[in-house]
Amino acid sequence: MSEYRRPIPQADDESREFYDGARRHELMLMRCRRCGAWRLPSRPRCPDCWSTDTEWARASGRGTLYSFGIMHQKYPGFEDEVPYNYAVVELEEGPRIVSNIVGVDEAALRVDMPLRAVFDDVSADTTLVRFTSA
Ligand SMILES: [Zn+2]
Repeated sequence: MSEYRRPIPQADDESREFYDGARRHELMLMRCRRCGAWRLPSRPRCPDCWSTDTEWARASGRGTLYSFGIMHQKYPGFEDEVPYNYAVVELEEGPRIVSNIVGVDEAALRVDMPLRAVFDDVSADTTLVRFTSA
């Protein structure tokens, strides 16, 4: 594992289970116990039925590419990475997640392409969820 120089996301009380799951290489999302709706980002109340009866559950990790862009701007920490992609992935369970697509040539990225989650251990205690071609 080489030194990771990009910004590291900081978990808060509502997102801690997501990041703890990523470290276990599991994609964890909140799910409503009343209506079954999955949600991301995590928040205390279901946006579909307004219930606060919530659980964390392991998502499939499968999804499709909803949208993407190719970054050429050299933001701090990313100077050596350009060009790189950023992507919005629509998960099989419904929520969309912002991430990166890895292991796919940028020119081959296509909206609706099937993807699966992969887990990038960027430091001893941080794992990022990324996606690759399914
Ligand atoms: Zn609900």
